[in-house]
Amino acid sequence: EAVARIHAVTLIPGDGIGPEVTDAVVRILEAAGKATGVTFAWERFAAGAEAFAKQGEYIPHELSESIERTRVGLKGPVTTPIGGGFASINVTLRKQFELYANFRPIKNLPGLETKYPGVDLVIVRENTEGLYVGLEHEVVPGVVESIKVITAKASTRIAKWAFEYARKQKRRKIHAIHKANIMKLSDGLFLKCAREVSKSYPEITYGEHIIDNTCMQLVMNPYQYDTLVMENLYGDIVSDLCSGLIGGLGLVPGANIGDHAAIFEAVHGSAPDIAGKDIANPTALLQSAVLMLRHLEEDATADRIQTALEKVYVEAKTLTRDVHGTAGTKAFADAVLAAMEGAK
Ligand code: NAD
Repeated sequence: EAVARIHAVTLIPGDGIGPEVTDAVVRILEAAGKATGVTFAWERFAAGAEAFAKQGEYIPHELSESIERTRVGLKGPVTTPIGGGFASINVTLRKQFELYANFRPIKNLPGLETKYPGVDLVIVRENTEGLYVGLEHEVVPGVVESIKVITAKASTRIAKWAFEYARKQKRRKIHAIHKANIMKLSDGLFLKCAREVSKSYPEITYGEHIIDNTCMQLVMNPYQYDTLVMENLYGDIVSDLCSGLIGGLGLVPGANIGDHAAIFEAVHGSAPDIAGKDIANPTALLQSAVLMLRHLEEDATADRIQTALEKVYVEAKTLTRDVHGTAGTKAFADAVLAAMEGAK
């Protein structure tokens, strides 16, 4: 605690439930930082429709410059218009900063009863290509094409990231998830790259499962899997499925990691159905912030928050509605703060 450490972090509260969960998380981070000698220099920016209305840019250039400088972001969800309008801010940021690895740990919170106790899965999603390149056009009226781009470079890069992670964390098994029976060339290339990379990691068991079967297997018996690596869209869908195994979208954190920057955000979106009502569960963003603290090598601060969070779940007195409680966003954050205080 002798030397104060300062971290500049780009903060994007986002919209919908974004500002509410971000407020809760920032309060908890500041309190935990105070107790462990860490100060956050927040560089706060709007993004998406809100930024466009204020500044005429969906991703203001000051925001981009901030991420280039801080190299670390904490981000709430940003709404993307459906069937038209501007391109997803979330996807654009991932591409802009080459945040190629989207990492999502799926783990039960202690004390929270779910249909699947003791799940411990890791999803590694390719974050820069696949169908998310957004290359769509109308060929003739009534016919559109959407181009799926798979490159050996990005496929090898994500497979290596997954295997390196598994090696460091002593995880034992990786499955590459695909649909190469139908998309023989694109998913075929993805698989070929994963298989090649797997040869350098003999201590890790490597398997390949088809995506549709994987969804069934996950619901029947998620315990058969350890780490799953897959292209962009499959990773998107399977992440939401897996969040359901452990209690829902209010819980699961995520990290978008590149070689030069990382942005931490929950798996969930802006949840317009519950926005502005002090209902949203900030746990997913809070656990994303814990991943950020580990990335910044601030493990003591991360542990302090995770311990307090788990205590609140074990006590189960102040939980939000999505996990069968009655507390609001603010009250939940207060309970985590009180649990941290109690820990001293
Ligand atoms: P969503 O994830 O916002 O919500 C799905 C369901 O989960 C809703 O019923 C919602 O109330 C619930 N939920 C989500 N987060 C919760 C939380 N923290 N606490 C309690 N309940 C929670 O998905 P959607 O409704 O399909 O998408 C809404 C918007 O979010 C869309 O514009 C979409 O493009 C955007 N989106 C953004 C991101 C991102 O910013 N990375 C990710 C996904 C979706």
